[in-house]
Amino acid sequence: MAGILYVVATPIGNLEDITLRAIRILKEVTVIACEDTRHTRKLLDHYEISKPAISYHEHNEASRTAEIIERLEAGDHVALVSDAGTPLISDPGYRVVAAAIAAGITVVPIPGANAAITALSASGLPIDAFRFCGFLPPKTTQRRKLLEQLKPETCTLIFYEAPHRILEALEDIAAVMGSREVVLARELTKMHEEFARGKPADLASTISTRGEFTILIGKATAADPVDTPIEDQVTALEKQGMARMDAIKQVAKTRGLSKREVYKKVSE
Ligand code: SAM
Repeated sequence: MAGILYVVATPIGNLEDITLRAIRILKEVTVIACEDTRHTRKLLDHYEISKPAISYHEHNEASRTAEIIERLEAGDHVALVSDAGTPLISDPGYRVVAAAIAAGITVVPIPGANAAITALSASGLPIDAFRFCGFLPPKTTQRRKLLEQLKPETCTLIFYEAPHRILEALEDIAAVMGSREVVLARELTKMHEEFARGKPADLASTISTRGEFTILIGKATAADPVDTPIEDQVTALEKQGMARMDAIKQVAKTRGLSKREVYKKVSE
């Protein structure tokens, strides 16, 4: 009889964030397929789990998938884990799960930690509808293009981002969606867990850039000034009695632009 492929969520920082069922399954399977065997071994040692581990990562996914499917067909039970959180979610695993389903193997999810959902649950942003967008593109041009595409979405947007790109990402979010509420969830479940809430331009000047980040952006609203052309926004403030340069300064701040950029736009 064929074995079962278990997709097992592991902690995203705090080792206590693993379910009793996940520990039992990891103890019962024949083999554990993990991204980095040394990394996962620390978790396994902590819970006194001594099962053999094999590496399964983006560089050997194709060859390992065939091997894992063969083992499953021969009756082995396999647990698939990633370095942190839920496998497949911005992590390897899709290929083996798809191949297992195609081969008629039973796939059983063992739910647990996930940075996106953990961040969302305490963000204070609307959760009636949200869109998980994975990692932001590493280059500014592609990042801004994607943000422009996502701007009209009327749901909370969730992104993963590397710490060395967090400031650049915030600058681009400020440029494209400067008036939105942004929440930065840093080091979730760890000693220095922090939620920073505010406008993207303000967050860029105050946050620590160390640790792991999940970025959440509040949804578009009908009153979203970013959907209004820059020059109309300046004119609207002038009509309210604000001096032109003060209006330019305010628009620049809310949109995360320089005063020069706004000035140029209204002078065109
Ligand atoms: N599979 C994981 C999950 O279920 O959340 C995500 C893996 S992805 C390779 C790693 C990214 O998730 C990090 O770069 C960061 O953006 C986010 N992340 C992971 N752990 C986090 C944490 N403790 N706090 C904040 N964000 C985290």
